[in-house]
Amino acid sequence: WMADRVPFIGGNWKCNGTKKSVADLVKLLNEGGNFPDKVEVVVAPPALHVGYVQDSIRKDISVSTQNVGLPKAYGAYTGELSGNMIKDFGVNWCITGHSERREGFGMAGESSELVAKKTKAALEQGLKVIPCVGEKKEEREAGKTMDVISEQMKALVAELSPSDWSNVVVAYEPVWAIGTGLTATPQQAQDTQADIRKWMADNISPEVAASTRIIYGGSVKAGNAAELFAEPDIDGFLVGGASLTSDFIAIINAST
Ligand code: PGA
Repeated sequence: WMADRVPFIGGNWKCNGTKKSVADLVKLLNEGGNFPDKVEVVVAPPALHVGYVQDSIRKDISVSTQNVGLPKAYGAYTGELSGNMIKDFGVNWCITGHSERREGFGMAGESSELVAKKTKAALEQGLKVIPCVGEKKEEREAGKTMDVISEQMKALVAELSPSDWSNVVVAYEPVWAIGTGLTATPQQAQDTQADIRKWMADNISPEVAASTRIIYGGSVKAGNAAELFAEPDIDGFLVGGASLTSDFIAIINAST
């Protein structure tokens, strides 16, 4: 089963980048040498930079947005970026439900229901989607990790049909590990991702559970990627800070 899941490495650039630094990063990646044969690489620049990156990045790196709007069409949706508009740029991926968006930067954030509806809208527009799930530190310490994740997953299952999952990569990102330098240990990440896969087998189907890639995110660096990737239920990474540097190439090369 495992061999069927092509390793997936995503770079989440978050709200970083000037025109110059984005051009420099694209150049760095374009000159980064050959990647392993079987790996899918996707980068998610800030929305304003997506068109440029899509036009200038090497063809073996796909582009993603970091968010997607709820509307399924062009129209009177001020400030939104609809899935069909993303597709029109030749961009095939979007991230949904990143913990920073769920949290809301101190304001009202995105509910699991909204994340699920955005995920479904994007899938209906022909995008592939990387929904993010994960627990906070207090929740892990209280033994509630899978309660939190199953609530997030349940909302997705309510919106998605079983066949939608072939266009989904689930990102497990423990909130306490994001941007903190505090990476989950390979065992912690493996245990949780095995639990997520088991949950998917029980609540969607064994086939979907076995074939869907589950990637880990949270302080992934060149120095810890290989040991995390060695775990059977870790199918790749969503990389934040390290995706802005040459570390990203090392992480791609470590994921074979
Ligand atoms: P980090 O972020 O690698 O900087 O911890 C990961 C993410 O938020 O996707």
